[in-house]
Amino acid sequence: MDASELPRMKDHISRALGDNKEAVVLQLLGRLKEFKATTDSLKSTRIGVYVTELRKHPNASDRIKTVSKDVVNKWKADIGRTNTDTPTKNGTAVATSQAASRQEGMLQPRADLDALKRAPTPTRTVATDGITVRPSGDTIRDRCTESLYTCLATGSTAAGSKVIKIIEAVEAAVFAENKATNDKYKARVRTLISNLKTNAKVRDGLLSNKISPERFAVMSIEELMSDDRKAEVERARQESIQDAVSATDNQSETDMFKCGRCGARKTKYYQMQTRSADEPMTTFVTCVNCGNKWKFC
Ligand SMILES: [Zn+2]
Repeated sequence: MDASELPRMKDHISRALGDNKEAVVLQLLGRLKEFKATTDSLKSTRIGVYVTELRKHPNASDRIKTVSKDVVNKWKADIGRTNTDTPTKNGTAVATSQAASRQEGMLQPRADLDALKRAPTPTRTVATDGITVRPSGDTIRDRCTESLYTCLATGSTAAGSKVIKIIEAVEAAVFAENKATNDKYKARVRTLISNLKTNAKVRDGLLSNKISPERFAVMSIEELMSDDRKAEVERARQESIQDAVSATDNQSETDMFKCGRCGARKTKYYQMQTRSADEPMTTFVTCVNCGNKWKFC
């Protein structure tokens, strides 16, 4: 874990905390603790302030409070060690580390707390944006268009009229490719949704016309994956923290799957490359109603 990963860790923690997923927050905090803090990295990322402020979040359990305190204390110790080259008496070392952390603003809240409260980004949907989807005569197609719209519009300031134009062209291209709303069509839409959410480069490319909707519709999974995501998948594979990744991966909710246990159609899913890059991704589904989990390729 190095400093460049810290902003993304903040996002993941905020999201997990917002979703009240204690286990995930704890797991992520555990990884943060491995980060070797330096005065510069703390100053530039303000991660210390962020972790300190986590304790005030309404979803912060006692366990989260304790662990986040541990993390901050560990970083204080890191700084203390880096700042004291010459061996000193314990008292001096502690004093130095406290002074350093105060200087970093670890004990002074504010800015990041506001950021924490703001997260997660409000979801934009065709309904919230007052957009009418051009009826295709097939409810599956219309639903897919709506889902794709949400992914591209949320977090963007682009006008809804522009987003829907792009998305309708994307959906039309996927449909043209498959000529029916069959399993292949659905799988393709799921892949596009999943990757739109995680790949800012693709999202920006679509919105700025650098990537045409037709091109996007047929992009390979490798092309669709963000650089961050590729690194993340690789790391997940290595560290076997798939649970943490999946839970923080902004799972898409869909009624495309039916739970084999309770029959509900309210499910969340995410996709991950579990085998080699040229094989299809594995889809992991969780039933929102009963918690049943299954996967398929
Ligand atoms: Zn179920």
